[in-house]
Amino acid sequence: MSTTILGGGLGGLSAAYYLLKKDPKSVITLVEASNRVGGWIKSNTQDDGVIFEQGPRTVRPKGPQGANTLALIEELDLSSHIKAIPTYHPAATKRMIYANSKLHLLPASFTSLFKKQTPFSKPLISLLFKDVITGKPAVAIKDESIYDFVTRRFGTEVGDYLISPMICGICGGDAKQISVKFLMEGLFEKEQKHGSITRGIIASWLNKEEKKNENKPRNDLYQRSINERWNVYTFDNGIESLPKRLEEVCRANGTRFEMDAKCTGLDFSAKITTELSNGRVLTSDKLISSISAENLSALLINKHPDLAKLLQRIKTVTLAVVNLQFNEKLPIEDGFGFLVCPKENRPILGVIYDSCCFSYTDKTVLTVMLGGHWFYDHFNDNTSEEEFLHVALTQVADILKIDQLPDNYKVNLLKNAIPQYTVGHKENLELIQRYIDAKRLKLHLCGSSYHGVGINDVIMSARNMADEI
Ligand SMILES: Cc1cc2nc3c(=O)[nH]c(=O)nc-3n(C[C@H](O)[C@H](O)[C@H](O)COP(=O)(O)OP(=O)(O)OC[C@H]3O[C@@H](n4cnc5c(N)ncnc54)[C@H](O)[C@@H]3O)c2cc1C
Repeated sequence: MSTTILGGGLGGLSAAYYLLKKDPKSVITLVEASNRVGGWIKSNTQDDGVIFEQGPRTVRPKGPQGANTLALIEELDLSSHIKAIPTYHPAATKRMIYANSKLHLLPASFTSLFKKQTPFSKPLISLLFKDVITGKPAVAIKDESIYDFVTRRFGTEVGDYLISPMICGICGGDAKQISVKFLMEGLFEKEQKHGSITRGIIASWLNKEEKKNENKPRNDLYQRSINERWNVYTFDNGIESLPKRLEEVCRANGTRFEMDAKCTGLDFSAKITTELSNGRVLTSDKLISSISAENLSALLINKHPDLAKLLQRIKTVTLAVVNLQFNEKLPIEDGFGFLVCPKENRPILGVIYDSCCFSYTDKTVLTVMLGGHWFYDHFNDNTSEEEFLHVALTQVADILKIDQLPDNYKVNLLKNAIPQYTVGHKENLELIQRYIDAKRLKLHLCGSSYHGVGINDVIMSARNMADEI
């Protein structure tokens, strides 16, 4: 059985890896439009060793998805290259938001929940009472925005100051449009079942059966992450170490890589034919698509317009990422960085303090994220690198009071980079799968458009897909 994989980002590479793991004799061709693998993952090492991450920078070790990634890292022999940030490091304990024209430290410990901390008007613990006394909605809700959900249960301050900036940080999105099932499906179900999130959580604690069935993954690296109290981690040469190593292993095990080869046409007849921009035509028994739903939709619009329309519903947002390096230690507080509340109506989503996260002791390295859901309110398709840099520096000067020019910088436009799981996303996925099953298309989907936008989710979705095939 031969397989064509569309896309050489983390999704496509993980799919190739897991298919080979399942059947080492798999005949796989991976098709990638650009001249490199990794997709949005790009770690740019500067002459002095500073790494400018242009896309993702850290991975979470927790939960079944986190453990699965750690198992993969072990299998790839990358464990010794891990660089972890422990839970007691300032980059883990000091996360800030920018609201009401000021930076505020977010509560990071159990005791801090009992204190009143700006911009909140009450201690966060008191909001639990609101959840307990607010009844279940009169009519069962199938899905709603994550902002509406938390506001209904905990009040608008949690919606505005916690959830909205958090959604900006995770997917550059607007919490008022993103589905509650994107991040809080478990809490949403608890509310629907028990009438309150707090009551639902207490019920789960008491339910020994539920605890017994908890999926407790185990591997040595996962255990190490617990023993050493990792909060997040990267690799000593940056996150790109992961796709690079996956490529190496897949190539060594027989996967053929068609680089600089954009898929321009698909036909699902007895055999699947894949047309490439370099003029080649591939035939295979199965097709795995790890490219974005938007890109796949464009390939299906003529022959499968109904499926294409469902895929088109999964929109993406565009970001500009500006890495800034100052060759001196500037007076900014240690911490992970800050996220901006959308109410501030600024062109930035947030700023990450790389020098604190990755211990650049004699320098200040920052990453400024611009745009996301609000990209076209502030920029357009012709905005130049200089303009992005100017906006980033103006924001940094205004918020962090750093008004000098950087010694080094890099600007990157990430067009249509992050999929948005808006209200109804999960139901839309069911319709997509129903269409594929009904037409018996030998098409399998993975990548960040479907079952989670983070690195762990993408790897897990590739593994689940390989298991199901
Ligand atoms: C700025 C930013 C910051 C992020 N930060 C984090 C983070 O800190 N932690 C975290 O866990 N996650 C983070 N993420 C998410 C993470 O980067 C993604 O989940 C992951 O990289 C997506 O991988 P993918 O393979 O699904 O897609 P992609 O990386 O988009 O890969 C798809 C590949 O398909 C290729 N392609 C597209 N169309 C075609 C075609 N027609 N023919 C052939 N090839 C094609 C593309 O060139 C690309 O290489 C971040 C994302 C961004 C953009």
